[in-house]
Amino acid sequence: MDNTVDRLKQMVARLKELGHRMTPQRLAILEILAESKEHPSAEMVYEQLKERFPTMSPATVYKNISLLKETGEALELGFADGSNRYDGNKPYPHPHLICLACGSIIDPDLTSFQELTRHLTETTGYEISTYRIDFFGLCPTCQINGSKGRRA
Ligand code: ZN
Ligand code: MN
Repeated sequence: MDNTVDRLKQMVARLKELGHRMTPQRLAILEILAESKEHPSAEMVYEQLKERFPTMSPATVYKNISLLKETGEALELGFADGSNRYDGNKPYPHPHLICLACGSIIDPDLTSFQELTRHLTETTGYEISTYRIDFFGLCPTCQINGSKGRRA
């Protein structure tokens, strides 16, 4: 994603504005979430950083992700099994495609959904403040591998 650097700058600015100190660990967590390539879970972020920061605890990762969520700098995708995933690259509502076999999550093209939201506002009179749209299925790789969905 080419806006990763901008997103990182925005996140850092926002946290500093709120009086939070920037540590190397915090910055590393922000970097991963600014990119949000895989829509990582807290565990995935921790796994990516534990070699670089051997003294960092999973709780530090959780706390920082909560902070980003509370400040509106990361979107939380909650799942019934508790395996929440995060998007700090696009912290606003947007649809996701979720693979039931491998758990990969991607962002589809957003243009048509902005039109849909506008259409719904016009036809229903609702003032829409947020939405949640998830498409579940099998990603191309899992189709080739003949996987079956495990997350129902
Ligand atoms: Zn898959
Ligand atoms: Mn996303």
